[in-house]
Amino acid sequence: MAKLYPEFDFGPCMACGICVQACPFSCLELSGKGRDSYRKAYPELLRREDCTGCGICASACPVDAVEMAER
Ligand code: SF4
Ligand code: SF4
Repeated sequence: MAKLYPEFDFGPCMACGICVQACPFSCLELSGKGRDSYRKAYPELLRREDCTGCGICASACPVDAVEMAER
């Protein structure tokens, strides 16, 4: 089965960082990549090689802004 990685929907995302905290392998960071005019830092998969595709980050998001996808 193909491995799935988190993808973030910056529409509903509140930049709360819950997904970042939830990752057991510290793969995510709030980075400047998805920064909007309010200067929020949105989550990004920075350490893709450490990501197991477990989906814990997606489950932890309170607004369902993380989708596990093949890429
Ligand atoms: S899928 Fe799992 S290992 Fe990958 S970023 Fe999310 S919580 Fe971390
Ligand atoms: S938990 Fe959800 S709302 Fe919070 S930063 Fe992550 S993707 Fe955005």
